[in-house]
Amino acid sequence: MGKTKITEDTYLVGIGVSPGISIGEISLVDQRPFIDEALIGQDEIDTEILRFHQAVDLAKKQLQKIKQTVSRQPHLREHLYILDTHILILDDDMLIQNTEEAIRQQLNAESALTKVLDQFRALFDDIEDEYLRERRSDVDAVGERLLRILTGVSERSIGKIGSKSLVVAHDLSPAETMQMDRSKILGFITDKGGRTSHTAILARSLDLPAVVGLESVTALVDDGMPVIIDGSTGVVILRPSEDTFKEYLKRKQHYEYLEHELECYRDLPTITTDNVKICLRANLEISSEFQLALKHAAEGVGLYRTEFLFLGRNEPPCEEEQFQAYCEILKQTGEEPVTIRTLDIGGDKFVSELNLKDEANPAMGLRGIRFSLREEQLFKVQLRAILRASACGRVRILFPMISGVAEVRACKQILTEVQTQLDREGVKYDPDISIGIMIETPSAVIIAHLLAQEVDFFSIGTNDLIQYTLAVDRGNEFVAYLYDPLHPAIIRALKAVCDAANEAGIPVCICGEMAGEPLYAMALAGLGIHEFSMNPACIPRVKRVLRKISKTEAELFVEKLLALPVSKDVANTIDREMRARLPEIFGQPLI
Ligand code: PEP
Ligand code: MG
Repeated sequence: MGKTKITEDTYLVGIGVSPGISIGEISLVDQRPFIDEALIGQDEIDTEILRFHQAVDLAKKQLQKIKQTVSRQPHLREHLYILDTHILILDDDMLIQNTEEAIRQQLNAESALTKVLDQFRALFDDIEDEYLRERRSDVDAVGERLLRILTGVSERSIGKIGSKSLVVAHDLSPAETMQMDRSKILGFITDKGGRTSHTAILARSLDLPAVVGLESVTALVDDGMPVIIDGSTGVVILRPSEDTFKEYLKRKQHYEYLEHELECYRDLPTITTDNVKICLRANLEISSEFQLALKHAAEGVGLYRTEFLFLGRNEPPCEEEQFQAYCEILKQTGEEPVTIRTLDIGGDKFVSELNLKDEANPAMGLRGIRFSLREEQLFKVQLRAILRASACGRVRILFPMISGVAEVRACKQILTEVQTQLDREGVKYDPDISIGIMIETPSAVIIAHLLAQEVDFFSIGTNDLIQYTLAVDRGNEFVAYLYDPLHPAIIRALKAVCDAANEAGIPVCICGEMAGEPLYAMALAGLGIHEFSMNPACIPRVKRVLRKISKTEAELFVEKLLALPVSKDVANTIDREMRARLPEIFGQPLI
């Protein structure tokens, strides 16, 4: 069957994972290995198992070779761990043993491997957390490499793509993305993929505009077809008309001008026009992301999500390993604090190694601090590692999913026990370590003034606070339309927490996704937030807004917002105000 004829200006929308606009011609790289299920005889089983092991060895050698090449490129060195992860997957017992087992059931090696990869995929599909679910793409990338070797389909030579082109592929592995030559490849689009896959992370590091998750773009396009991609909005335009081409050329120039302008903000402090200092910190999931934080001059780490240390392994990380991971970041932050959040699993964050029981209502179940208080030994190991790290740099401890004072006191009691033990052993730590709590449940908001008496700082987790306050599962597509950061209940909740913190004289940080949205920056500053912690890539844009507004005016603006009963009015008022104040950033006011 031939390809559908593509008419001028065919718009597709996927997930924009790396911002920027690219205009060029398509280079389609899509020779996928084709697997025909084939049975083998009893007498062929051993040879087939051997063939599988040889493929595994060759795959490791290929990855080692890519590692050597990539390690010569300084901007990619921090991502070498991705290739190490892939080499580790090749050693995974489950992958090896299950494939051998399937071969023993008389499937040939490639069919056996395909079957096992499907089983892996099904396991990952059940995971609700996007970041964890996206780790599936690493298994897919390794699986595809093995299948290529087994079926004799040659490796796609992304590194050799010639002219200035936009790569289109069904999927791209991180190894392939790393080999892209920035001077030749202008960006990429794929059928598969998600925002937090390693390929997406790499695209951002390489500054390559990218749109993923287009489902079937490979079936629509041909080599040489003209295309425009907008990695900020996820829009892809096939065969753009002359008018669209001109329009996007203008947008591209404007984007590049703004990007250049943003670089000027890197070394400027975040101070409002009436001289109020606001801290902009980074949210981190894996320590290698800290490079991005440095690039955007983040003032330390406002949220280090430690659950990612517990992933993809058979045992939870030991004290020493955690200690090393925390020190790794502390080495790079200097005077600025690293806020280490204790394990926050359960709910939508699932770590299979910890044998979490099935719960009827996991979001309201054994998650966050509830899990740590129940698994006290695991909790103590983590607290020991955090405390030890506090001797190497400025650390703050953050407890997640707090819903009452008793929980905070229980945490502090356990922390004291761990400190006493460290004293006995003569191990150094910071005795004045700051203790903070995430405010992400409605009960924490209601008793914020009581909680403020117990801790040194608050950090508002709006991602969860919105879901619990509005009773909207943050990962459920059917009720996504109700997930509304500007709901009057949320604005009031933020106000109540900020007032409680300010009255008690403790700093209040916001570390949910809201913190990285430039449109909300003025309202959040007006509410009395002292620290914004966000994906580091968002820092320059938020800084640019905060440097152009006055705190006093922001407070008056919040008064206006608090008087509005409907979130649509809140959204319109914010939009209008920001356009009127900063048209160069938010666009001209709409009439
Ligand atoms: C939040 O809930 O806003 C938050 C920052 O924590 P997480 O997204 O890790 O649950
Ligand atoms: Mg949370």
